[in-house]
Amino acid sequence: MKFTDFSDTIIALSTPAGRGAIALVRLSGKDAILHTQTFFRGKNLLEQKTHTVHFGTIRNLENEILDEVVVTIFKTPNSFTKENVVEISCHGSPFIVKRIIQNFLDNSPVRYAKAGEFTQRAFLNGRFDLAQAEAVADLIAVDSAASHKVAISQLRGGFSSQIKELRQQLLDFVSLIELELDFGEEDVEFAEREKLTQLVKTIQTVIEQLLSSFELGNAIKNGVPTVIAGKPNAGKSTLLNALLNEEKAIVSEIAGTTRDFIEDEISIEGIAFRFIDTAGLRQTDDKVESIGVERARKKMTEASLILYVIDLAELFNQNTNKKEFFEEIKEVEELNINTLFVLNKADFWDKINNNSEFSWFNDWIKNSNTIFTQANNTTDKEDIEKLKYKILEVIQADNFNAGDTLVTNTRHYESLRNANLALDDVLNALEMGFTGDLLSLDLRTALEHLGSITGEVSNDEILGNIFGKFCIGK
Ligand code: GDP
Repeated sequence: MKFTDFSDTIIALSTPAGRGAIALVRLSGKDAILHTQTFFRGKNLLEQKTHTVHFGTIRNLENEILDEVVVTIFKTPNSFTKENVVEISCHGSPFIVKRIIQNFLDNSPVRYAKAGEFTQRAFLNGRFDLAQAEAVADLIAVDSAASHKVAISQLRGGFSSQIKELRQQLLDFVSLIELELDFGEEDVEFAEREKLTQLVKTIQTVIEQLLSSFELGNAIKNGVPTVIAGKPNAGKSTLLNALLNEEKAIVSEIAGTTRDFIEDEISIEGIAFRFIDTAGLRQTDDKVESIGVERARKKMTEASLILYVIDLAELFNQNTNKKEFFEEIKEVEELNINTLFVLNKADFWDKINNNSEFSWFNDWIKNSNTIFTQANNTTDKEDIEKLKYKILEVIQADNFNAGDTLVTNTRHYESLRNANLALDDVLNALEMGFTGDLLSLDLRTALEHLGSITGEVSNDEILGNIFGKFCIGK
């Protein structure tokens, strides 16, 4: 593979800004070692082997010592960027780091790296494909065991190889079809239409699996926005506390105390759930609270998962309007969001279960996604544990395992979707017996979308979008 010959050498701080024991300043480019040598006093770096570490000082042109450092050199092509790379480990003072970098910028042809430029060079030099480059960013951002697993698997090639293989098979067909076109008027058919139909269908099956993995993939990467909703006093705060295992929300006996949103995160089997505790959907005359109700509804429609807490004590209460009680449940169901109905205050269940007056409620339970809890029971936490697993079940994460291929990236999702649509067109064209030139057009569109995932097809705009989101120094 030919490396992109970037004539300039870039520099940036690669460790986080701020004070630390050590900071790492990285240079990459054809002349990275040469330019470092200008300011380095110690061994002659130009004569050293790759992957070697050298102690010395970095000095400015006035021979003033900026710092004592340890320099590691990586020679092309055995480095992260495949270019010559120098890593300068200096003392972790922002002042020292600034002086070292400034010295390079002022007194040598080294320039400051753009966001993500090290990784972009690695991609352009063929160290990895685009999806893997994106996994580098994901890996830096991971904050849960599950997102870690997914990012590592993506970095190691994840579904890149799967996409590349499918794309290659399609490419072979396109070549055959385009060969037919070269024969012009002659009625030749190198590409067997039957086989092509089969291949397209197989590819679509794989793509559809990947597409359907996105909901979970995205949940793992970004956390699952989960709303706990329900009428005032249903036990939302108590339930949230039980889930969080600490006293975050304020538990109160006065209906409607949870007016605002309390956001907290818990990790179930390594997947982060961002819990938002809201006011209920109850209609109210209280001004402050009715604003809360409106916001609760909005939060609920934006959520990936709703835990709707139903108060069994309220249901049992003679003064409760049962019709309204049920209407509120129906209203939640109509939102069409993944919902788990939490039947709280299960200590009241016996009274309801044995009462024929509530048979309609029993019927509803049988056909709905429900779980019983007694949130205020601090001695027996079994129902809370069950609730956690039920939550995983609702977002279909209960059978997620490390080897699964998951799409976690919105860009990949879009490309897969577009490829799938183009393949629909291919199938249509095949069915209608369209000519090779039209067929090849649709196939090329599908190829382009598949290729954009791994970067076999890319342009400056795509690259700018991806690497611009990286931090400088990565
Ligand atoms: P919220 O307004 O929905 O957040 O409700 P809270 O969590 O503040 O709870 C209201 C009241 O119900 C509190 O006094 C809780 O102790 C009580 N509570 C919560 N869960 C249960 C339960 O399972 N059984 C009973 N009997 N009371 C509960």
